[in-house]
Order: sequence, then structure tokens, then C-alpha cells
Amino acid sequence: MFVKVAIPIPKDQSFDYIVPTEMEKNVAIGKRVLVPFGNKRETGCIVGITTATDIENPKEIIEILDQEPLFDDRDLAFYSWTADYYLYPLGKVLGEILPGVKDRRTRTEKIAAASCNASSTTEKLTVKQRLVLKILQEEAEVSVAVLCQRLGNVRSTLAALEKKGLACITEKGVFRSFPPFLTVGEPSGRPTANSSQEAVLKELHCNLQSGQFSTFLLHGVTGSGKTEVYFQAMEEVRRRQGGIIYLVPEIALTPQLLTRLKERFGDENIAVLHSGVSRAIRYEQWQRLRRGEMHMAVGVRSALFAPVRDLKLIIVDEEHDASYKQDDRLPYSARDLAIVKGRLHGATVVLGSATPAVQTCFNARNGKFSCLTMPGRIADRPLPRVEIVDMKMEKALQGKNTFTIFSRRLTAAIRETLDRKQQVMLLLNRRGYHTFQICRDCGHPLKCRNCEVSLIQHAQEGVWKCHYCDYTLAGGLVCSRCSSANIGAYGMGTELLEEEITNRFPAARIRRMDSDTMDRKGAHEQLLNALGQDRIDILVGTQMISKGHDFPNVTLVGVILADTSLSLPDFRAAERTFQLLTQVSGRGGRGDFPGKVIIQTFNPNHYAIQKAKDHDYDGFYEEEISLRESLFYPPFSRLIHLRLSCIHQAKGEEGINRLAEKARELLKLARVRGKVEIVGPAEAPLFRLRGRYRWQLLLKGDDSRFLHALTRDILSGFHAPGVQVKVDVDPVHFM
Ligand code: ADP
Ligand code: ZN
Ligand code: ZN
Repeated sequence: MFVKVAIPIPKDQSFDYIVPTEMEKNVAIGKRVLVPFGNKRETGCIVGITTATDIENPKEIIEILDQEPLFDDRDLAFYSWTADYYLYPLGKVLGEILPGVKDRRTRTEKIAAASCNASSTTEKLTVKQRLVLKILQEEAEVSVAVLCQRLGNVRSTLAALEKKGLACITEKGVFRSFPPFLTVGEPSGRPTANSSQEAVLKELHCNLQSGQFSTFLLHGVTGSGKTEVYFQAMEEVRRRQGGIIYLVPEIALTPQLLTRLKERFGDENIAVLHSGVSRAIRYEQWQRLRRGEMHMAVGVRSALFAPVRDLKLIIVDEEHDASYKQDDRLPYSARDLAIVKGRLHGATVVLGSATPAVQTCFNARNGKFSCLTMPGRIADRPLPRVEIVDMKMEKALQGKNTFTIFSRRLTAAIRETLDRKQQVMLLLNRRGYHTFQICRDCGHPLKCRNCEVSLIQHAQEGVWKCHYCDYTLAGGLVCSRCSSANIGAYGMGTELLEEEITNRFPAARIRRMDSDTMDRKGAHEQLLNALGQDRIDILVGTQMISKGHDFPNVTLVGVILADTSLSLPDFRAAERTFQLLTQVSGRGGRGDFPGKVIIQTFNPNHYAIQKAKDHDYDGFYEEEISLRESLFYPPFSRLIHLRLSCIHQAKGEEGINRLAEKARELLKLARVRGKVEIVGPAEAPLFRLRGRYRWQLLLKGDDSRFLHALTRDILSGFHAPGVQVKVDVDPVHFM
């Protein structure tokens, strides 16, 4: 017997090994094995079992590491598709998505039970033995540890009972359930669906009953009750004992959601998968899902890989969110893969959003997805009224030299809202205090030692930090060109915003929500609880505050500077801006009081800002889609991004030029299908990152299979010492 083993190395193939006879009955696809590889040992995963091999001197596997397999054939088909599409070796895919092999030892505990002849026994028993036996008969199975807690040490009593054949003691795996849900917000009960929720659910139920794969776009404005739709569809699936995967962008930001899930489905049924869950628990949840003991996987993008049995429903909430795309290691999009997985399992896929990705909407309009809409908020609450403040005018009015953060309009609105004892959210999508520094003597901009970016000041910590690498500078800054210590700091991040707002509204209770203040465990829950209980008047934060929160007393949302995301070197900059503005606006006016939004910007006439003001998704889509078409950008083309990096600038430059030449030559020789463009080579927008120089080459085409083949050919045999090439299929981030 031979097995094919996928090993996490950058090589796109599996390796054949002999199975020693004594291991044969233990071998299965989906188990990990320890194998000799070169002169080392590697952990690989069994992906095939055969009776023959072409290898000349195959080696033996050393050890089977998993007691039970981690996936079955259908899961494997999905993982293989992923590896193939993202041009990433299967061994590495498995190495990254499976729970760690070191976490596999499940804890066991001793369980005592009465034997079947216990009831008719005529044995002479001590008082203590009789007491213990009575408990065992009443409770079927008791953990020995629990029994000892109740009665003191009864281990010798149990041993005596076992010896008499009246009790049996066995080892059983125990499940360490994840830390209990923190309760945020009031129990919300189970509302009756309103008419638009009902219409949507009717279609979803119909598809769920047919058991056919289909993808739905649920396009519902903020506060239209999409979560309730997901829940009722999930209930329908559970009535039929089906499995569910429910993806959310960032679980730490949505403790409310976990509370609601627990209320409705009970926590013993739900595996919560994200990086905050300990590795051992992740391993056990994974196994319970695979065995069909748990039926729902809730989590961030990686939860899509969970081996849920009888998968009938995949929900991707806030499907437009950029966090569904992973950039490092396996660069995949969980939103796109959800559709692939749904097709493999015959599941219903629901992509929900108030601001669908242009790509998703395009697919819905072309009939590839079915579109379900919920155009109004629950209880006919109005969408908030949005005002735009032109900061060019504001600067002129307030005087050129004043440091204008708050327009008079926004200041007045904050004051009014505080007077009404309602809450304010202020968005600034940049953290830190000052965001760039310039030498006052020679004009040199100060940069990170390892990256081509400004250092960000963190005043409370008294340091300057690079947000891309871990470089941190404490103490006084010195110009790297002229050694002057006369350094000017400019630009505003959330830390400075918090200080400014505190100066203006000293009586208000102000809190900040960004990744600097939220890295402590439980920080999100605490802060959101405080917000829910009206212990915060003004919440200042980055895009974190725009994510799905439902706080009825927030009636004013202020956007300090809408332009930060508009200027990114990315063809989706307008789309991101529109989405962020719409989402953050959607936090306002979700209760009985109408909401107001004030957007400050230097580009008041930009269509992303204008359409966000009018809550006009369709209008935005029309403008955006015609631009995309004229520039041959997705969804009209497919993209594959090649990123090359090297610590030596000259070597890297030589490498990227060679790669680009090869690409152009291959393209000349190939029988091209459709339209293909090679853009670049060019320096990456972040030319230096973590000490490496970076370049990029973009392949654009309308035939995905052709682009894949071309990329494979470009990379095959390409080798340059010290040069790293990364492939990003359907790239989202271009920095
Ligand atoms: P969305 O995800 O679309 O922004 P939510 O699902 O958070 O909206 O719903 C907004 C609010 O409306 C929540 O507080 C939710 O509990 C409530 N809600 C949802 N559906 C109903 C309903 N049918 N009747 C009453 N309240 C509802
Ligand atoms: Zn850096
Ligand atoms: Zn200088």
C-alpha cells in the first residue's frame, strides 16, 4: 500500500510513500503523517491511497499523527480547487488551513458507569460503595473527577466496584468548549419577519428545499434586518439537520452577533472559528464539525475551510468587506471561494451587504446570482440625512492658518446631539497622533528604517511606529539627512482627534476605538457594552466603528475626512470610499430617533461622496461600472498580480525585468484567447517594505484560464537567487 502525501513546501506535487503493514488499517485520506523528506522529517497530509507507484525507492511513513481524518474527499476536492486556482501548492494550502498538528492530542477524562448486572447484585457493599453505585445507576455516566468533587475522593471505592464487576471506568475524549459568550445587549427574542424579509425568506426557503446550489445577493440597506433573514434561513436548514457556514468580517467586532446566535441556536451547536480561539479548541471544534456533532461554523474567512457535514447554507455577511481577502500566505478570497464550495456541496450561498462589491452586483445583474433586495429599514425608520461640508470653503472661512478639524456645522451638530443626551460617532480612518514628520531644516521627510513610509507618532506611548513593520523609535527624532533635531510633525490620526474633541467638549465621555486601544482581550465587548448602556457620549475611531454595530441611541455620525481612502493607488478606491461612507452612515438613526451624518471632505463633488450622500447605490454602480469597462478593469477583466521583492535593489530590478520580458515573449508566442494586457513592470506603491525592495507586474485579461496558464509558464523555470515572487490571483490590495 502506498499513500500520496502533500507536504508544505513550495512545490506543486505530492509524494509517494510506503505504508508499513502494521499501519495499513490506520491509513486514511485526511490524516497527517510524519515522513522522511530529504534528510529531514516533514509533516504532510495523506491526499491519496494507491497500490502502485512510479517512484523508484519510495520511503516508508514514520508515524500517523491524527487519530481521525481532518477532512473527506469532498473537502479535499475543495482544497485542491483552491490550490489550483490560486497557483499555490496543495501541501502549503493544507499546512495553513488545517488546525495545528501539535494541538491534536484531545484531552481525555475517566468516566464511570454502572454495569448491567449492578441492579441485581447480591454482593455485600459498604455504605460508600452503595452510595456511589446508586449515583452511577441514576446518572448513567459520570465523570470521575466530578464524582470526586461531590463526594470526596471515591477512586478506591470505584476501583472496588469495578473489581466486583458492578461498575466500569472508561477513558473518553472531553470537549473543551470555547470561552463562554460574553453577553452584549439585551436578549432580542425572535421577531416576526416583516414583509420584505418574508419575501426574501420565501425565495431562500424554496431554494433550500430544492437542495440545489444557487448564489443569492441579499442587498439590504443598513438596518433592513439582514441578520434576521440569515437567522431564519439557518433555522430552516437546522430543521432539516443541515450544516451551515456563517462568515463575518471580524468577529471581535461583533460580540452582539454571538449573543444573538447563542440565544437562537444554543452554543453547543456552534463552532466559533477565529484567531482568538485557542488552538487546541480549534482542533476539537474542527473534529466535532467533521464528525457531524456540531453543525454550524461561525467565523472569519478561514472558517470557510471547516469540514462542515451536510453543508446546505453558506452565509457571507458584509460580502464587500476587504477582510475576506487574505494577502499573505495563501492569497484567497473567502467570498469567491464560498461560491465554489457551495457548488461542490449543492448548498445555497447568500452574500449579504448594504453596499455589495461592484463585482457581486455585476454578477447579480448578469443573472449569475439571484438578487434579493430589502430597500427599507425595519419599522420604516428613515435612512439618516447626509450633509456634505466642503473643507476648502471651511478653511477659507476659518482662516488659512487655523488648524481646521471640525467644521462649524459638525461642531454645532455634536453640541446639539450631546444636549439631547444622544450619542455621536466620529470616523477618521487613520490611527496614531501625528501621521508624518518633516525636517524643518532641510525638508527631508522622515521614513521608517525598513519601509518607504512615514512613521506614525503614538503620543500616549511616547514613540514613533511604522504601521507596516514593527520598527519603533523612542526618544527624540533626528533627521537622517542633516542630523537636525528640529523636526516638525503633521497630519492627524485618531489619537490626536480624541485629544482635540476632549478639548472642545470637556464634559463629554469620550472613547476611542482603533486597533491601538482594542488589542486587549475583551476590549471590544467592554467598549460596546459601555456604548450600549449610554456610558459613552462620543466614540472616535477608525473604520472599526463602521462595522455592523446596532446602537439605537447613536444619532450623529461625523466623518472627519472622507478623502483618506479616495487617494489610494487602487482602482477600487472610489468603491471603498462609497462603501465606508455608506456603512458608517448606517450606524446612525437605528432607533426611534432619526440619524444625521456629516461628511467633511476636500472633494465634495466626487461621485463616491455624492452618491453616498443620496444613499444611491444604483447611481454609484452605474458610474463605477462604466469607468471599469472603459479601463478594462474587473469585472470586465481578470487580474493576476505578480509581486517580486529582494533586499538588493539591483538584483530585484534585474529579476523583474527578466520576468516581464519572459511574460511578453510568451504572450507573443501563445495562441491568445481574448484580450490580454501586461502592465508594468513598475515599482510597487510601497517600494520598500520590511527591508525589501518591491516591484509588480500586472496581467490583465478576459479569459481566466488563459491568464492562469500564462502565469504558470512565466514562473516555470524562473529562478533568481534572493528574489521572491508572489502570485496574487484576483488581487484586492495593490500597495
Ligand atoms: P442589518 O444587518 O440589515 O443592518 P439588523 O439585522 O442588524 O440589520 O437589524 C436591525 C435591527 O432591527 C436589529 O436591532 C434587529 O433586531 C431588528 N429587527 C430585525 N428584523 C426585525 C423584525 N422583523 N421586527 C422587528 N425588529 C427587527
Ligand atoms: Zn517599516
Ligand atoms: Zn534634515
